[in-house]
Amino acid sequence: MPSPTVFWFRRDLRLADNPALTAAVQASGDAGTVGVFVVDPTLWGRSGPNRKAFLVDSLVALGAQCGGRIVIRTGEPARELLSLAVSVGADAVYATSDFGPYGRRRDDAVAAALAESGRELRLIDSPYAVRPGTLLTGGGTPYKVFTPFFRAWKSHGWPEPTPAPAVDWQSCGASTELPERPFTDVSLPPAGEHHAWDRVDAFLGDRVARYGSDRDHPGVPGTSQLSPYLKWGTIHPRQLLARLGPSQAEDVFRSELCWREFYADVLADRPDTARNAYRPGMAAMEVDSGPDADAFFTAWCEGQTGYPIVDAGMRQLAATGWMHNRVRMIVASFLVKDLHIDWTRGARHFMAHLVDGDLASNSHGWQWVAGTGTDASPYFRIFNPVTQSRKFDPDGAYLRAWVPEIAHLPNRSIHEPWTEKTGPPAGYPAPLVDHSVERTISLDRYQRLKQTWA
Ligand SMILES: Cc1cc2nc3c(=O)[nH]c(=O)nc-3n(C[C@H](O)[C@H](O)[C@H](O)COP(=O)(O)OP(=O)(O)OC[C@H]3O[C@@H](n4cnc5c(N)ncnc54)[C@H](O)[C@@H]3O)c2cc1C
Repeated sequence: MPSPTVFWFRRDLRLADNPALTAAVQASGDAGTVGVFVVDPTLWGRSGPNRKAFLVDSLVALGAQCGGRIVIRTGEPARELLSLAVSVGADAVYATSDFGPYGRRRDDAVAAALAESGRELRLIDSPYAVRPGTLLTGGGTPYKVFTPFFRAWKSHGWPEPTPAPAVDWQSCGASTELPERPFTDVSLPPAGEHHAWDRVDAFLGDRVARYGSDRDHPGVPGTSQLSPYLKWGTIHPRQLLARLGPSQAEDVFRSELCWREFYADVLADRPDTARNAYRPGMAAMEVDSGPDADAFFTAWCEGQTGYPIVDAGMRQLAATGWMHNRVRMIVASFLVKDLHIDWTRGARHFMAHLVDGDLASNSHGWQWVAGTGTDASPYFRIFNPVTQSRKFDPDGAYLRAWVPEIAHLPNRSIHEPWTEKTGPPAGYPAPLVDHSVERTISLDRYQRLKQTWA
């Protein structure tokens, strides 16, 4: 007699191209599948309100696709899944593999709890086109540099996406009540598979042809803004890759998807790098702390540094839960190399606000900028916030959108309002620091650190 299977949704909140779900449905025969999402207090407690609210919205959309039959449990996953499997008479729980440090520990605990009662956790597929840990260099070690990883990733390839299975959802009388949606005054993107595909169609239909040139210009809607959907697996990168052609612009987009895969691969190999420097020598880099550093950090968080491109980015983050990639690099560089504040502090602030907050991409995005990571930009390459602003937002469209106090300034001075004869306009601060001075301090600290390696 076939028994129902349990399908545990995690970062794969979709029905199409979900091989773990398809396997659960096939194994259940006529007995049906119980879909469950476990609100894990450990992960829930770590997420900011924007990400939690988007998760709740995504679960609402998923529930609607499943006839309102997604079971919601709150508690420690090992206990909740065992009790659910016992109550519905399931022999196996299916899920998509997770490669984060906490996810792996949690899955080991779930597998052990299920095994004690003769049940099994079956982990299938991954949130990536190529499963982390698959690609190795000629020497048999994980990649540390992006470009050869990208080559190996493309030549490895990935399977074609598969359609959604026909699922006989069972809820067996269990609760389907969602956790309370936390308050956020951020206007979040619309959640769910259907809206994700609208965004894919809008991007691939038109904008992708200009992606190579537009993607670095924050004042232009040049990127896909698919990151929140990729974060929760509302779409799988395989589904995007299957739609990409051979053009140069599409290859640039392919490479950006690959950065996400590269960082997941690095984190799977080195779970310690979620919070510690990938390059151990950089861990001893001198950073500032204390009341002055705290005041600088607050000004950075609030978009009050006096550097318009930095302030525009931080205000975009606060207002939308998202920030353009070029600006993420600029604000991160400013925090680390102009304000000399430890990158982990900035990374935590990002994780508290980003709707797309993802441990691997965030920690390694920060480490790339801070010069502590794999494949890092050389330490001496310090982003100049004025030059970056002039180059990537030449007509100040992005600055005018996010920093209204300076919106009336001409292109000549909008990137450095302190150069106006009367100084920065009323209500907008003078620069917190002098970039050229802080740049020299950063380089001196780096030289001193390097001497300790000898
Ligand atoms: C300091 C810093 C922190 C970051 N934190 C995160 C994070 O928490 N979550 C996150 O998803 N991305 C993060 N990124 C990467 C990147 O900024 C975002 O993925 C991108 O801005 C999302 O917008 P988009 O979907 O329009 O990107 P697009 O340009 O349309 O790219 C498509 C997809 O490719 C992936 N991608 C693109 N660039 C990168 C990159 N540099 N690293 C990893 N993946 C990439 C994303 O999944 C993105 O959705 C961070 C980058 C930096 C510099």
